[in-house]
Amino acid sequence: MQKISVIGGGAAGLACAVMLARAGEEVTILERGDRLGRKLAASGNGQGNVTNVHMDASHYFTDDPKHLARALSRFGSRETANFLSSMGGIFLPDARGRVYPAGRQASAIVDLFRRELERLGVKVIFQARVEDISYRNSFKLTYKEGTMSADKVILCAGGCAAEHFGTDGTAYALAQKFGHSLTPLRPALVRLKSDPALVKGLRGIRIDGALTVLHGAEPRFGVRGDILFTENGVSGDAVFRASSYAEKGDTLELDLLPDVSAEALRAAIGGRTGEDALLCILPNGLGRVLCRRAESLDALVSLVKAFRLPVLGDCGFREAQVTKGGIPLSETKEELESKYQKGLFFAGEILNVDGECGGYNLQWAFTSAFLAAAGVKSC
Ligand SMILES: Cc1cc2nc3c(=O)[nH]c(=O)nc-3n(C[C@H](O)[C@H](O)[C@H](O)COP(=O)(O)OP(=O)(O)OC[C@H]3O[C@@H](n4cnc5c(N)ncnc54)[C@H](O)[C@@H]3O)c2cc1C
Repeated sequence: MQKISVIGGGAAGLACAVMLARAGEEVTILERGDRLGRKLAASGNGQGNVTNVHMDASHYFTDDPKHLARALSRFGSRETANFLSSMGGIFLPDARGRVYPAGRQASAIVDLFRRELERLGVKVIFQARVEDISYRNSFKLTYKEGTMSADKVILCAGGCAAEHFGTDGTAYALAQKFGHSLTPLRPALVRLKSDPALVKGLRGIRIDGALTVLHGAEPRFGVRGDILFTENGVSGDAVFRASSYAEKGDTLELDLLPDVSAEALRAAIGGRTGEDALLCILPNGLGRVLCRRAESLDALVSLVKAFRLPVLGDCGFREAQVTKGGIPLSETKEELESKYQKGLFFAGEILNVDGECGGYNLQWAFTSAFLAAAGVKSC
């Protein structure tokens, strides 16, 4: 029996701990907060979008796409659903392939993990922020209230998105101490800021639109989905996905009525002018604002089909769902063991892998947990 320390009790750490304890290893989770799985419990608007049936490496950003593709082929969405339901519960896809617990409650997934950890006798130490790891024959971990030794360590301490869940980016230093580098970090799956004057009066309006990121005149990325107007920009699934491609200085071009051609729209408006020209075409609030702004029929059609917003930036790590960047995947072996320190493994968001909106990030947490657990068991 090996003595394993898992640093971080988020999605990756919890999955790793269960997989290793099931294999008979002695596992301890060191968690800096006072609760397990806080981010997991908040995921998918509280409903827990754990994976997606449309699963392959094209939905991810990483420095090592081939490594990632091999990882997903070993533990993909089916394996995630099977693993989670092995603890109890039913996991089902919606029409867009996003997989949720049938009860649509993310916090219940954390409860599943808690019950399983208890059954397996996994020790959890709370308020244990690991500040140092050293290695001499075995690992020595120093945390706020004490020290502990371990044969193997799995670093699952997350990135720097959503600091209020316990992830402020300080854990990268634990890996850097062993010679690991860090790719540039950036917030991802985050609201985008634009000129407040251009979205004035639109706050809270949500549409199913098409969004194109324009870099100069060149389209960089296009997506169809939820777009929500905020007081200073846009949010929603489509915007989160576009946030990985959009930079300050780019333009978002929104087609607010993607299923209707410009000609059909023109015909539907007919000769009407005034604030109600878009009644039953767009939500009333949005229609009224556009009608007020347009000086001609052509201008109105173009506002609806190509509403342009300059990108002034994003809303930062605090609001981001994930971190783009991290410890390079290429600095790990096939099963996520450090290439620089034997016995040190990684899993989850701390690595340079981030996915699109729709369950891809939790899938990475579970895939990487599986690989790290397999690596620990085999060496
Ligand atoms: C609001 C929100 C909604 C989301 N919704 C979805 C979704 O629906 N689907 C999806 O796929 N993804 C979603 N994500 C992203 C997903 O939750 C994360 O990618 C995933 O939780 C990362 O798992 P992790 O275990 O790597 O890190 P985390 O879940 O961040 O866990 C890291 C843990 O490590 C602990 N820790 C940090 N440093 C230390 C230290 N030095 N010592 C000890 N412990 C430490 C932290 O307290 C934390 O508990 C969402 C994220 C947010 C913020």
